[in-house]
Amino acid sequence: MDIMDVSPFADGAAYVKGRFVPIAEAAIPVTDWGFTRSDAVYDVVHVFGGGFFRLNDHLDRFIHSMQARRLNPPEDRAAIEAVLHRCVALSGLRDAYVAMVASRGRPRVAGSRRPADCENHLIAYAIPWIDVIPKDVQERGAHLWIASTPRVPDVSVDPTVKNYQWSDLTSGLMEAHDHGYDTAILCDAQGFVTEGPGFNIFIVKDGKVITPDRGSLHGITRQSVLELCGMMGIPAEVAPLPRAELEDADEVFAATTAGGVMPVSRVGGRILGNDRPGPVSLSLKEAYWRKHAEGWHYTPVRLLETA
Ligand code: PLP
Repeated sequence: MDIMDVSPFADGAAYVKGRFVPIAEAAIPVTDWGFTRSDAVYDVVHVFGGGFFRLNDHLDRFIHSMQARRLNPPEDRAAIEAVLHRCVALSGLRDAYVAMVASRGRPRVAGSRRPADCENHLIAYAIPWIDVIPKDVQERGAHLWIASTPRVPDVSVDPTVKNYQWSDLTSGLMEAHDHGYDTAILCDAQGFVTEGPGFNIFIVKDGKVITPDRGSLHGITRQSVLELCGMMGIPAEVAPLPRAELEDADEVFAATTAGGVMPVSRVGGRILGNDRPGPVSLSLKEAYWRKHAEGWHYTPVRLLETA
């Protein structure tokens, strides 16, 4: 029997209130504002082949999100980084989904309604790899439903601050599943394409790659795709994307940390190409994983980390 089979951390390791615990034991109080008000920001980085991918970019974005929401847990950036290494090291995972969360916590003054009175805290965990679109669906190309619920306006909830306000995204997902689709894409109230539940979206039209300039997270995978386009000589643009252009695209693909570059073969009632992933999407997907294997933006997990 492998040693990891008996480790209490084999299903994942978490850090909560300053302690490392097996993932099944990681819990927060029901009165934590992170739970009662979705008053939390988070980030997710993946570990692939024993190393973090673009760890510094994820930490930069997490700190930006915390500052935007005035969340200030006791751990500084170096301590957060050490906690992430330690969670992965404890889990023994070579490929992992690694989350960091800053929660508002509970008021130090009983009954206070003032956010500033709350005791902010850091949660982190490493669990086995997750694909937001399963690998077999990625192979045939995901079927994307265009949601009837518009994405919440950027001026109300800033989508560049990674947050747990997922009501609109979850409504889109339920609607997609009700119609037999794999996942959803949301447009804003003005009819521009934004993002989906856990991913950015790209279209390919006449050889050019386009991703929306609004209503969406500045995804790290999106950044990787744009960099790959630059290396591969594929024209790429961040621009307004009207719904009609999505419906008229030659190819569509989604991009996220939890799955990488994920081709789409159907959008609403429309079948793209041969009902299979398109050539530009496939070449970007191939390049994304090849660059991983070559050590692109790779930070080895510090296995002896003692945070
Ligand atoms: N958009 C949303 C709403 C997300 O939740 C995510 C990732 O979880 C993304 C986009 C993709 O971002 P990244 O590539 O940084 O994982």
